[in-house]
Amino acid sequence: MEIYFILLFMCISVKRLLGIFFPPACLVCGREIDSPGLCDDCKKNVTSIRPPFCTKCGRPFPSDRGVSHICHDCIRGRNRFVMARAVFEYRGAIGKLIQGFKFGDRVSLASYFSDELHKLYNTHHSTLGMADIAAIIPVPLSDRRLKHRSYNQTVLIAAGLAGRLSVPLYQDVIEKIKETPPQSRLSAERRHENVKHAYRAVDSHALTGKPVLLVDDVITTGATVNACAAALRKAGIRQVYVLALAMRV
Ligand SMILES: [Zn+2]
Ligand SMILES: [Zn+2]
Repeated sequence: MEIYFILLFMCISVKRLLGIFFPPACLVCGREIDSPGLCDDCKKNVTSIRPPFCTKCGRPFPSDRGVSHICHDCIRGRNRFVMARAVFEYRGAIGKLIQGFKFGDRVSLASYFSDELHKLYNTHHSTLGMADIAAIIPVPLSDRRLKHRSYNQTVLIAAGLAGRLSVPLYQDVIEKIKETPPQSRLSAERRHENVKHAYRAVDSHALTGKPVLLVDDVITTGATVNACAAALRKAGIRQVYVLALAMRV
């Protein structure tokens, strides 16, 4: 666990030091800006997730008219989490940034992404009566993928959020026990089947009966976060909330 905190701390310290000599640059296009983040032009290329969306899984409805309500999948009881929300739609400038964060070693983006997750948390904590959480749990990578990439980007943002909220990070509570084909090649139905029994909760006794927050980088169909939530519920964790950076819409 320490290595992620050290990495994060180093990123933040170096960034502060550089900020004295160099003004911040837009994370997408590199243009000089006043405060860290994105320039005004790049912000236009970012879509935040807005209502109307499903009040449970957070997926926006195709039409932007009407009010938020529960979607068909959630009525059927498929989703085992209490509520899921994402900050951005996964496309445009944010799509590029997340790709760079996951595959391009841009670990310094963790700070910006953690800030965005923190804002999302604050919104839902106050307006939806989200319970005070006992732990923040990142969605794990399989050992094989972790070796390939050397770091799990989701742990970095979960650690950033845990630090901002002063909530403990439990990064080893969910274990991926089955190698699964990449979700991107599968249909929505197959994705749920693919990951259904791929995760299990380990050493989670301290969290029995408590609410927790599961963090992921991108929600596509919701199959992965749902499988993780199911594994946590099976282990006796009472409520699982989900926050993600982005959602494919
Ligand atoms: Zn820009
Ligand atoms: Zn739903």
